[in-house]
Amino acid sequence: MVSDKAINSVIVIGGGSSGCSIAYNLASRGKKVRLIERGSIASGNTGKSSALVRTHYSNELISSMALYSIKEFMNFSYIGYSGFTKTGMVFPFNGVNVDTARENFKMLRGLGIDEQEIPVEKVREFFPDIDSSDFDYILYEPDSGYADPVATSNAYASAAVKYGAEIITGRSVTNIVAVNGKTTVETDRGESYNADAVVMATNVWTNKLLNKAGIAEGDLLPIYASVHDTIYLRRPEIYKGIKPTLWDPQKSAYYKMEGTSVTAIGSLDPLIDRTKFDPDGDVENHINDEYIEKYLEKLTERLPGMENASVISTVSGLYDMSPDGQAIIDSLSEIGLKNVYVCAGLSGHGFKLSPAYGRIVADMLTLQDPDKALFDWRYFSADRFRKGKTIRSMYSEIGTIY
Ligand SMILES: Cc1cc2nc3c(=O)[nH]c(=O)nc-3n(C[C@H](O)[C@H](O)[C@H](O)COP(=O)(O)OP(=O)(O)OC[C@H]3O[C@@H](n4cnc5c(N)ncnc54)[C@H](O)[C@@H]3O)c2cc1C
Repeated sequence: MVSDKAINSVIVIGGGSSGCSIAYNLASRGKKVRLIERGSIASGNTGKSSALVRTHYSNELISSMALYSIKEFMNFSYIGYSGFTKTGMVFPFNGVNVDTARENFKMLRGLGIDEQEIPVEKVREFFPDIDSSDFDYILYEPDSGYADPVATSNAYASAAVKYGAEIITGRSVTNIVAVNGKTTVETDRGESYNADAVVMATNVWTNKLLNKAGIAEGDLLPIYASVHDTIYLRRPEIYKGIKPTLWDPQKSAYYKMEGTSVTAIGSLDPLIDRTKFDPDGDVENHINDEYIEKYLEKLTERLPGMENASVISTVSGLYDMSPDGQAIIDSLSEIGLKNVYVCAGLSGHGFKLSPAYGRIVADMLTLQDPDKALFDWRYFSADRFRKGKTIRSMYSEIGTIY
């Protein structure tokens, strides 16, 4: 770790929710920040996100980060507009996961989260015809909801600019050179920019860039891409209005009730998480009729009235998967890139945690002592997998995102 004095200027690569939050957090601490994004702000996976914001996790560290983050979303106006909409979320459990959920209830309440045990009658107030025959235990978070991922990222970027940051879009970084304590970033327009440190917030494209920077195959990060398809539907009359998101781990799906009349169906299927995809492959045309049928069936089995819902559109995006489903936030000096840092491998739940990621990276670059940081960045080290110190979900087989 270089000292705070050495890091006065930082280049952030990637203008998604992570890069923009990191840029904001560093700029607001007085660092000279330059963010470089090859497309436009939020044009990567952030722009395809369901952007659900919740605090229900089964790991205390991640739950604390989720709580920190949701508080930032609730008070976001000092940064800008995030579109955060409080809808509540319902988490029904059965089988082996019930005992874990009961333990989590206590853990989450202990952190100060308004987690509630609710009877099925309460769920029926939201969804009158719900099939609850396999619900053994139900948790509810009234404060959870969703935000607008494009607005949030732009708000962070604009706030960073107010603190003196420069945002450069439409430039692809083609190389990172780290020599003699200086880092240089080269772009596809032939420019080169120097800074004391570089932060890669490049999601599924991280290893590709590391490869260009001369990092050998064996030293690349354990991150791969998986595709997630989301189906947007117009809700029938009986489901109109503000409704909570319904998690359906039994069917490996979630149903986001967006606005007053749209529902988005997303997948929680661990098999989909595990299926690798080329980050530069044809994501846009990934979804097929079979997938749509299958997920419409899941929805209508759970909420029979949705039979009359009509498909409006579909969106496919990529998750940057890590082996334990949690971020890698670390220095890359061990693989030869001194003063280069990474925040990637967010595994499909990185939007809601973007306020915390920004805070962690800013702490990592400006504090000497991890014990003084709000969240100890060492938990997110790249070598935790080798050392057997993974960040575990307590649930079994309901996707990586718990
Ligand atoms: C379908 C879907 C649904 C999701 N739902 C949720 C959800 O409900 N809740 C939640 O919390 N999370 C969700 N996520 C995950 C969340 O959206 C992501 O974890 C988060 O937005 C990732 O942000 P990012 O900044 O790390 O990545 P990205 O938004 O992908 O940003 C990375 C940026 O880096 C740029 N870049 C890459 N390489 C270069 C280069 N060489 N030079 C310059 N720029 C470069 C890219 O253009 C891109 O804009 C979902 C994701 C998907 C795909």
